[in-house]
Amino acid sequence: MKYYSTNKKAAPASLHEAVVKGLASDKGLYMPETIKRLPDSFFDSIADMSFPEIACQVADSFFGEDIPAETLKRIVYETLNFDVPLVKVQENIYSLELFHGPTLAFKDVGARFMARLLGYFIGLEGKQQVNVLVATSGDTGSAVANGFLGVDGIHVYVLYPKGKVSEIQEKQFTTLGKNITAIEIDGTFDDCQALVKQAFLDEELNRQMKLTSANSINVARFLPQAFYYFYAYAQLKKMKKADEVVVCVPSGNFGNITAGLFAQQMGLPVKRFIAANNRNDVFYRYLETGKYEPCASVPTIANAMDVGAPSNFARIYDLYHRSFEEIRSHIAGAWYTDEQIAEEVQKVYNETGYLLDPHGACGYRALQENLKENETGVFLETAHPAKFRDTIERILGQKIAIPEKLTTFMAGKKQSVPMTKDFGDFKKFLLSQR
Ligand SMILES: *Cc1c(COP(=O)(O)O)cnc(C)c1O
Repeated sequence: MKYYSTNKKAAPASLHEAVVKGLASDKGLYMPETIKRLPDSFFDSIADMSFPEIACQVADSFFGEDIPAETLKRIVYETLNFDVPLVKVQENIYSLELFHGPTLAFKDVGARFMARLLGYFIGLEGKQQVNVLVATSGDTGSAVANGFLGVDGIHVYVLYPKGKVSEIQEKQFTTLGKNITAIEIDGTFDDCQALVKQAFLDEELNRQMKLTSANSINVARFLPQAFYYFYAYAQLKKMKKADEVVVCVPSGNFGNITAGLFAQQMGLPVKRFIAANNRNDVFYRYLETGKYEPCASVPTIANAMDVGAPSNFARIYDLYHRSFEEIRSHIAGAWYTDEQIAEEVQKVYNETGYLLDPHGACGYRALQENLKENETGVFLETAHPAKFRDTIERILGQKIAIPEKLTTFMAGKKQSVPMTKDFGDFKKFLLSQR
């Protein structure tokens, strides 16, 4: 299958090219030329299928033309070596727990899949090392670094904003060593993202080194996120709760929700989506006004959603034929202040015993406020609350349990390269690494 750029100027690419390049040469995001509908028989039997079985079918419709069936199956099974349970929080509201992977966040799914797919393509190419550049506002860095750790022929550079990610998040990508280098930028997440984007467009750098992205813009990270929307539906269907499903996604760069919108195009019966934001409400304002006006991000306690210019807006815009009406008919919006997020974490914990993380809290609250009678709501619990330990403990006024996976990271020693947000410095550093 070919992948075209949302800017429509670059020539369509093969999957191999799209995965290795990340961003198209015209700065657009790659989109698959067709989104195949899955057959009715798939949805008839979905409730009896396992998560990897479902994912294999979905993966086949995206990648089946381009990757041998056995390889694709192996990649799917290796990626999904953890469960994604749907947990009831209250009547008609369910949490899709995406935090049971190695770094306790949903990004493990896309990152693990991409590392393996890229590894496969590099194996076909032969020797040259591929350098993965990734900007992170917290969880991307850890998921990508851990997903790629020790994969031959790949070196990962993680750029993160100094002082703006939690200690636990930072430890998860600065303590690994091997083929992972962490770069601590004196700036914001948007500065990190700008450096990465500029590196991809720098001709000299690209002549000297093979660069690719592992941000949510890469199709190999973005598309596999569709897997768990189908699995959520399968679990609801088993409970006979799948008639009117509303899915709410805590959103930053909008990669996760866009994968859900793709799933819907493939036939997944979701009635509507809600994008939940923190004070970075660019998308919400777009839904209100029809004007998309990116701006600088502001820091919040749901920091993985502190994004002022969500990259995947370009995909949503393209998917719905640049029609404001069409976008509004598929997606509703909501946004919350830090005070509202904290209030929600506390309230839900007191009333149900379920501990939300600050991102999931936005999703839960948006369902609470928007769900109609007879509808069943699913929010994506995008990270384990212990990843935001300080925030959660401050809100609750008590200590919380830390999963063993996290304490292991905490014991490691931080190693990172300090850097300004000046592109010249970043470029010089990369060239020195060859
Ligand atoms: C990355 C992240 C988000 C935002 O996901 P997008 O795909 O960028 O919209 C939400 N919550 C958590 C915990 C994250 O790590």
